[in-house]
Amino acid sequence: MSRIAYVNGRYLPRAEAKVAVEDRGYQFADGVYEVCEVKGGRPVDERRHMARLDRSLKELRIARPMSPAALSVVLRETIRRNRVTDGIVYLQVTRGVAPRDFPFPGNGTRPSLVVTARNYDPARLEQQAAEGIAVVTVPDIRWQRVDIKTVALLPNVLAKQAARDQGAREAWLVDAQGRVTEGASSNAWIITRDGKLITRGLGQDILSGITRSVVIDLVRAQGLAFEERAFTVEEAYAAREAFVTSASQIVLPVVRIDGRPIGNGAPGLIASALRRDYHRYAEIG
Ligand code: PMP
Repeated sequence: MSRIAYVNGRYLPRAEAKVAVEDRGYQFADGVYEVCEVKGGRPVDERRHMARLDRSLKELRIARPMSPAALSVVLRETIRRNRVTDGIVYLQVTRGVAPRDFPFPGNGTRPSLVVTARNYDPARLEQQAAEGIAVVTVPDIRWQRVDIKTVALLPNVLAKQAARDQGAREAWLVDAQGRVTEGASSNAWIITRDGKLITRGLGQDILSGITRSVVIDLVRAQGLAFEERAFTVEEAYAAREAFVTSASQIVLPVVRIDGRPIGNGAPGLIASALRRDYHRYAEIG
């Protein structure tokens, strides 16, 4: 857990770090967030995360809580005060505190900003990468603008719990046509029998993952066969490899989907190589 949290201008010990009950994030999930990996005490891919944050804020017409330069200082200071070397930094911006009413509050309402940071459990992460993870598929019941990174994550929470209930670590969400959209908190990838990497193309039905975009750079730089398109659950069952990407897990091999082994049931060579090479392509600030 984060020991120190930045809350609207102050760095506070966890026990004192609180938001108002009429914060619109609490009342309406009227807010957005970002999670950046931290490596060697520095944020990874900060520029891309900040660009996506700006886009999420614009789409929802929430004002920027501070300038990008000031926000960068707060991220670094929160990392430093929590003594995070390898872990994550989390930031959340909501529309602010106002009497509970659905329409946007008046212009005087300032957005709320919270930033926390914590170290990984490195042993657990390495074990997951070495063993690979199991995934289960569930219907994608989310709203139609999941390209905006909002804190409205209840369907993702339910999907993740459904995975846990079945002994899996991630849920893959499936659209009405039987095609995988993405993971509950990751982007979904397969590698076909003939060695082609496949991940769904960008649109309003998936989050434009930062890790996904860096992996695409890596895949292109290495000249691997790659196609951006939707794939079905059946294609995933028949894949040679599968994996997920996210800032907190980088590249994590998937070895079972709905109880069926993928490939030979062990982490794939390509997924493992992408995980190993990732930070040569990421921007470490
Ligand atoms: N899709 C969803 C639904 C997510 O929650 C996440 C992680 N925040 C991702 C994809 C991966 O995005 P990123 O690589 O930027 O962490």
